[in-house]
Amino acid sequence: MNNFNPADNIQDLQYFGEFGGVNPSISDSSTYTFLSAKTMFDTFEGNAEGCYLYSRHSSPSNLYLAKALAAMEGTEAANVSASGMGAITPVLLQLCGNGEHVVSSRTIYGGTYAFLKNFAPRLGVSTTFVDITKLDLVEAAITPATKIIYCETVSNPLLEVADIESLAKLAKKYNLKLVVDNTFSPLSVAPAKLGADVVIHSLTKFINGSSDTLGGVICGTQEFIDALKNVNDGASMLLGATMDSLRSASIMKNLRTLHIRMKQHSHNAQYLAEKFEADGIKIVYPGLKSHPSHEIYKTMINPEYGFGGMMTMDVGTLDKANALMELMQERNIGYLAVSLGFYKTLFSAPGTSTSSEIPLDEQVQMGLTDGLIRFSIGLDNDIERTYQMMKQCMKELAIM
Ligand SMILES: *Cc1c(COP(=O)(O)O)cnc(C)c1O
Repeated sequence: MNNFNPADNIQDLQYFGEFGGVNPSISDSSTYTFLSAKTMFDTFEGNAEGCYLYSRHSSPSNLYLAKALAAMEGTEAANVSASGMGAITPVLLQLCGNGEHVVSSRTIYGGTYAFLKNFAPRLGVSTTFVDITKLDLVEAAITPATKIIYCETVSNPLLEVADIESLAKLAKKYNLKLVVDNTFSPLSVAPAKLGADVVIHSLTKFINGSSDTLGGVICGTQEFIDALKNVNDGASMLLGATMDSLRSASIMKNLRTLHIRMKQHSHNAQYLAEKFEADGIKIVYPGLKSHPSHEIYKTMINPEYGFGGMMTMDVGTLDKANALMELMQERNIGYLAVSLGFYKTLFSAPGTSTSSEIPLDEQVQMGLTDGLIRFSIGLDNDIERTYQMMKQCMKELAIM
């Protein structure tokens, strides 16, 4: 990765508003006029660079945001969508059709898991779920019908790390596309730089960072992005999960502070993970030496942005987990809520919430225990103070 710095790449892009505004103007139109009928025809054919047709296809505001996110991931192009799932499903359906097959990590976002397991089979797309950290198992799952290897850089909710470089080599060997959901690790990891073909984010999380909107993005080659937007057979264009211009403009403004926020999320999570582990609490955090993928993850990240803001804690039972989360909310340490990347700490018990789509026996098999709490650590100014407050809650509940 050497001198690839995603935050510098974003900073180096310059935009002006229509009247010299310091923020680009918001394109508040669903449709666009043409000076000549010929240009309209050419635009439909995809041959009129710089012309806008209809906002489900593209809009200036969406292109600004897409360009910044492509710069962040080091890809040629990007396309934003109304949600993370609105990015994930078109990618899978663009690359895979009837009779074709996906090899996917078994620890992925619950919605993605549900789509592959329950919905995609209706369209003739089958999936084999594997432990993505075992490359031999990944390779063994590949069949002549396989088109995609799918994983998350850092998986939800167990924080397993995918060795993207090795997976990319495997994908190349079998002529497959490696699709990586990088939602948990923006700026820290640039999967395309490690060989991924397509990089996806739910912008809803760290990138927007204010829990006020949904959003998604697909980053990839110009050819792939053009194919997704093709008016005749592009999955993004035809499935229609387009982002609204007002939203892309607001996400763009939040993107400006992402590097500062990621550093603070990582700093705070590293601090709490070290403290609670030293206290004898079972913590999973990729920045801890005890994490099974700590060494490999260290080689994948841009150290400036750290090991990220996600951490899990196992307090033994669901009852204890629920009691602790309720008490922490009462003391205003954070909110009992799903999602992540907010300024405030968010916590939930994934087994009964975000990963409840995964059947119980499979949850047990993958190590998703009852007493597990997933934390998205916030931007707290004084994290030692937060640690003391959390510790007090845990003492009162006899967790420590
Ligand atoms: C939230 C999330 C998604 C889905 O994104 P939405 O914006 O909710 O549609 C996908 N992947 C991961 C890792 C997520 O955390």
